Amino acid sequence: DRLKSGLTKTRDNFVSGIDSLFSGFSEIDDDFYEELEEILIMADIGVNTTDRIIEDLKEKVKEQKIKEVSVCRELLMDTIKQQMQVDETAYEFEHKTSVVLMIGVNGVGKTTSVGKLAGQLKAQGKKVILAAADTFRAAAIEQLTEWSNRAGVEIIAGQEGGDPASVVFDAVNAAKARKADVLICDTAGRLHNKKNLMEELRKINRIIEREFPEAYRETLIVLDGTTGQNALVQAKQFAEVADISGIVLTKLDGTARGGIAIAIQSEMNIPVKYIGIGEQIDDLQKFDADKFVDALFE
Ligand code: GDP
Repeated sequence: DRLKSGLTKTRDNFVSGIDSLFSGFSEIDDDFYEELEEILIMADIGVNTTDRIIEDLKEKVKEQKIKEVSVCRELLMDTIKQQMQVDETAYEFEHKTSVVLMIGVNGVGKTTSVGKLAGQLKAQGKKVILAAADTFRAAAIEQLTEWSNRAGVEIIAGQEGGDPASVVFDAVNAAKARKADVLICDTAGRLHNKKNLMEELRKINRIIEREFPEAYRETLIVLDGTTGQNALVQAKQFAEVADISGIVLTKLDGTARGGIAIAIQSEMNIPVKYIGIGEQIDDLQKFDADKFVDALFE
């Protein structure tokens, strides 16, 4: 299916490593765990999460007195799935009006993800409005305008260099007036200046709260999956300045480092809500940890 083919590069390494592990060992011993550790780390699952997975697995193997390597494969999948469990969150966009802030540094795929999401929600019959609140770059406004045309949704944009909060103000009021289902705001993410970023987000959030207190809110951080462990570092940095409700992990089609999804969800306790597995509108998929792990192992 589409998920499996989108994850081809990650699966290529991972599946063959796992296959040779489970066919190469007949006994579950230290060497087995060592090789497993290497495979998980090579897939960018990260040292911390890998350690937790292996500790968990060892415990289960002991408890259940498992000797057969073949049984261990299922157990490993379950263990990874359990590591990825996060606190339940309400599913987004089923509320009357949702206001979504998209944050993330340049180049991670933020504008593309906003456009894809807008296109999908529109196709589901929802009324979507976009706010080009990344006023820092003219290119960002142009690009989002293109996506709004492609998706057939309205866009509220300000001038380059204008106040992002005033774009959000206009957009929130447009969303209210037009009874929109979802307002998606593309914001600038300049992490090198944390104080500015924090202030800008605070200002934007204050406006949404004041103008539209009854709206359902989401703050999604967009991360570039091809950067592997750096994506996790970035998520942690953003979590210091913003109240993140979900993660969008992009470009998983172009990388063998897809295991980063496991590391991020496991370490952040914030759900990965979407993954990007290509450049077309449909290549943004709702993330399901169980299906993701199944796709990696099959
Ligand atoms: P922004 O600066 O964060 O807004 O990033 P853009 O949305 O402009 O995306 C940067 C580049 O990444 C563009 O060329 C996008 O087409 C590409 N891109 C975004 N998401 C994906 C994805 O899931 N897969 C692939 N292959 N490319 C993507």
